[in-house]
Amino acid sequence: MIQKIGVIGAGQMGNGIAHVCAMNGFEVSLVDANAEALPKAIATIGANMDRQIKKGAMTQAAKDAAISKIATGTDLAAFANADLVIEAATENEAVKREIFKKLCPHLKKSALLASNTSSISITRLGASTDRPSQFMGMHFMNPVPVMQLVELIRGIATSNETYEQVKELTAKLGKTSATAEDFPAFIVNRILLPMINEAVYTLYEGVGSVESIDTAMKLGTNHPMGPLELADFIGLDTCLAVMHVLYDGLSDSKYRPCPLLVKYVEAGWLGRKTKRGFYDYSGPKPVPTR
Ligand code: NAD
Repeated sequence: MIQKIGVIGAGQMGNGIAHVCAMNGFEVSLVDANAEALPKAIATIGANMDRQIKKGAMTQAAKDAAISKIATGTDLAAFANADLVIEAATENEAVKREIFKKLCPHLKKSALLASNTSSISITRLGASTDRPSQFMGMHFMNPVPVMQLVELIRGIATSNETYEQVKELTAKLGKTSATAEDFPAFIVNRILLPMINEAVYTLYEGVGSVESIDTAMKLGTNHPMGPLELADFIGLDTCLAVMHVLYDGLSDSKYRPCPLLVKYVEAGWLGRKTKRGFYDYSGPKPVPTR
């Protein structure tokens, strides 16, 4: 049974996963290579829980109990007792493989491993560990405390037992699972990211401004966010990484990343997390940059 959960990467996804696990009574170890990310993550979790308290979805006592269940650190040895470790580090295969290489010697034999990757082959990531049958994809959506879905992805070697345990855990976290086969970007991002990439092409070709593209898609298709606003929210580096995985993995030119998306990432304009992407977030209200 899964009781202790480790989370690697304390960025926007890792802190959300730690939040939801702790809120549902699990003990959590949250580890990031960058020590500065850790107090930031705890502050974000606290602020997000305060929002839940305001909405009446959580009590102050439940918040205090949840926060006390999260231990933070930079050392992978913290995962020695974990029943499941969820990797939510940067969307880069080399980074993830290096993490698994260093992580596996610290784990107990029975521990399960999951990756929150948005797009990378679960079979290939699993094969880089000492436990491919105990490895699978557990793809949370952003923001984790709010979004209902967790996409579950089995690699070719993932055992039924691993899949069933992670599925049961997903339900205990109050989430609904949808199962996807291990193809590039799975279900959600296979459909969503080409739409975002097309929105960037629409901007690049001058079909519309940032504002007109987002307004058109919000009011014209009833999407709660426009595609460029959503791209900024996801992180433009992550969007570009997913497009590369689709392009390389499916060898179809329809997945070619838009050159403007590439330029923004080269400029370090990664969206909300760097305060600039298709919008400028330095003032009180986001301002379109094009
Ligand atoms: P992020 O940039 O906010 O956070 C990544 C974190 O990983 C950073 O804090 C970084 O310091 C840490 N990190 C990098 N290398 C590390 C290492 N070697 N050891 C430990 N920590 C390390 O990114 P994010 O948006 O939280 O994305 C994380 C993962 O979640 C990616 O695989 C991404 O594809 C996936 N994901 C993202 C979204 C989204 O909307 N952003 C949604 C679903 C899944």
